[in-house]
Amino acid sequence: ILQINNIRKTFGTTNVLDGISFEMNEGECICLLGSSGSGKSTLLQIIAGLLKADHGEIKMTGLQVLSNNTFIPPEKRPINMVFQDYALWPHMTIRKNIEYGLKMEKVPETVRNERIASVSKLLHLEELLNRLPSELSGGQQQRVGIARALATEPSILLMDEPLSNLDVKLRTEMRSELAHILRKLSITTIYVTHDMMEAFALADRILVLHEGKIAQLAPPQRMYEEPKTLGVAQLMGYQN
Ligand code: ATP
Ligand code: MG
Repeated sequence: ILQINNIRKTFGTTNVLDGISFEMNEGECICLLGSSGSGKSTLLQIIAGLLKADHGEIKMTGLQVLSNNTFIPPEKRPINMVFQDYALWPHMTIRKNIEYGLKMEKVPETVRNERIASVSKLLHLEELLNRLPSELSGGQQQRVGIARALATEPSILLMDEPLSNLDVKLRTEMRSELAHILRKLSITTIYVTHDMMEAFALADRILVLHEGKIAQLAPPQRMYEEPKTLGVAQLMGYQN
């Protein structure tokens, strides 16, 4: 459903992404790991179309969205995103925030109401729908951000550390719920995290970025048993 071919991106003199290629199957979840500054967010933004790559091709749901002479803008790509700063509209209630994207996509009102009901149930937001974002905690706002993205039922969902503002208890709870939701809706997901437990709970495969390249791309168990590089081994928790 997603084909990434030879993505390159340089900032100044640093090759942040130095020829990244991989493919994803429908409904698959890849967790993207790598040290701070390894280019995880950059790669996500390029896939979303928010940042231009220097080179490379991307195909999603059969549609060429990036090549030498193609650039499909973000709003026309079959994706949705959840970022660390969830940027809710401050003057709109939670319900309106979730509904906004659906209205943009001209989803009919009855379907909108169904979707809002189902995502707010999943993310435990039912009691909060009539409040303003400023009346919610950071963790609650983060859940609204996830609800808003899920409501549009995107083919591909890009998430950049979406649970980072939650306390440990809620994080653990949300982690397994999210795994369940993504499987149930069969949404193809790229999920950036620093949390190995999260990666093991969610990922069909883990992708480790290092110095602009893919250090390893493998199912969690396999990566744990056969880390290809010292860096991957350290990520997996081995002491050297
Ligand atoms: P983190 O885990 O801290 O979020 P990351 O893996 O997401 O890190 P990126 O945000 O993708 O890392 O950044 C990769 C590198 O590119 C960093 O060295 C960063 O300083 C650099 N970089 C990112 N955006 C820009 C920009 N707009 N201009 C210049 N350099 C940038
Ligand atoms: Mg980042």
